[in-house]
Amino acid sequence: MTDNARTNFIGGQWVGDPDGDVRMQRSPIDGSEIGPVTWSSRGAAQRAIDAAQIAQARWRKVSTWDRARAMQRIGAAIAANREDLARLLTLEQGKPFAEAYFEVGKSVDGFNLAADLVKYLEGSTIPTEDPTKRVMTFYQPRGVYAVVTPWNFPVNIPVEYIAPGLAAGNTIVWTPAPSTALIAAALVRVISEADIPPGILNLVTGAGAVVGDEIVSNAGTNGVGFTGSAATGKVIAQRAAGKPQLMELGGNGPVVILPDADLERAVTATASGCFANAGQVCSSSERILVHRAVYDEFAARMAEKARAVVLGDPRKDGTTMGPLNNASVAEKVGQHVNDALERGAKAITGGKRPDNALSPLYFEPTILTGVSREAIINTEETFGPVAPLLVFDTDEEAFDMARDNRYGLVSSVFTQDIDRAFRYVEEMPTGIVNINDTSNYWELHIPFGGLSGKDSGMGRVGGKHALMAMCDLKTATFTVR
Ligand code: NAD
Repeated sequence: MTDNARTNFIGGQWVGDPDGDVRMQRSPIDGSEIGPVTWSSRGAAQRAIDAAQIAQARWRKVSTWDRARAMQRIGAAIAANREDLARLLTLEQGKPFAEAYFEVGKSVDGFNLAADLVKYLEGSTIPTEDPTKRVMTFYQPRGVYAVVTPWNFPVNIPVEYIAPGLAAGNTIVWTPAPSTALIAAALVRVISEADIPPGILNLVTGAGAVVGDEIVSNAGTNGVGFTGSAATGKVIAQRAAGKPQLMELGGNGPVVILPDADLERAVTATASGCFANAGQVCSSSERILVHRAVYDEFAARMAEKARAVVLGDPRKDGTTMGPLNNASVAEKVGQHVNDALERGAKAITGGKRPDNALSPLYFEPTILTGVSREAIINTEETFGPVAPLLVFDTDEEAFDMARDNRYGLVSSVFTQDIDRAFRYVEEMPTGIVNINDTSNYWELHIPFGGLSGKDSGMGRVGGKHALMAMCDLKTATFTVR
């Protein structure tokens, strides 16, 4: 393609990149063309960093109240464009329109929440041993933030960094996942129309290993916010060594079904945790440990839920699951399911790509029984609409199976015994444990992140936690004479 797209937003201007490339974006729904995307060079990323640095000098001096007002204006602008943004989100990402509409709504809430919370980002005064000393602390913006984000929630995940980051006085250079670059550009266009200073938010589209690498490693950025895979997170951790880093990486459950669980509640919550966003969620119900006493009944009821999913064009009313977002995730899902089947699992429903689909990216909602602990679908994150059911007999065995995994993001436990629930909360090797609810339960202000020592990330996003993480805590000391 020779037509130069302008999906980079640098210093308040929409620009292409003479040293970059332009590629046509296609919809996962049916492969149709959506529009051109700039695949930028490192030079474009450098120009965006320069613009963010220039804007930073002024933005950090804008009063907290004025920054909060700007966040509210952005929230209002997104709300006014909610439907259009949701339509493009569905077209480019593949999720059903209702899910897209919900996601865009949460991004409105994200800016309003940052506007509220930044006003209460209080430091402290600290009593001292030395009677002549007075000590206080306060939060200051770190400077320019590099933000790199995935394609599964391409509106809300960036806002988890952009809203608190801007509210706190940082400026931002954002690189979105290439397969959702157009919804990123549409979001930035709406934000830019909310009367904000040029250069405080810059967008650079293109390959993660080029522009993402440049913004995280460049000496001109002061902090990194990254959500994505553990593999990329580990590369970035090295490339951005020494900078403060917030990292939200992969997850792999588990969901634990105990014999005294309210089975209807457990099945409904687990099915929604498996099939929302076609399973492309870091907190998905990726592996399900079921007590032997209820295994067969749980499996049969899960199969009923899977058969009730309406797979198809996500733009249509009534569709509850669309395609996977891209070829590499579709290939991974197929490989993990086949590996489980080869190791003796059975697909009691689903298990393959449907016939006559609009594109090769659709995958049937799948329930696998008899899954072995060695199966890749148990050991690795799959990111598809698949419920692998494993059996256990004792709590100790469930704890062992839960621990025997490199991920540690979100787990769910279903039981009516409060003492047992508390024991599971303490034993589960995950940053979040949901009792009697879907693993996808989440609200914007709740701390969200992985357990230390696992491959699920470091730090916590969510409400005041992201605000504090994206600031330096400055200590000032005085002497009274
Ligand atoms: P990915 O790691 O492949 O890509 C994420 C982003 O990193 C993309 O923008 C990509 O372009 C960029 N990137 C790739 N290589 C890079 C490099 N060398 N340097 C800098 N940037 C680079 O992940 P994905 O497939 O887009 O997203 C899925 C993953 O994200 C899953 O593992 C999922 O669990 C995780 N995720 C985690 C959370 C959470 O909150 N913990 C939320 C959503 C998704």
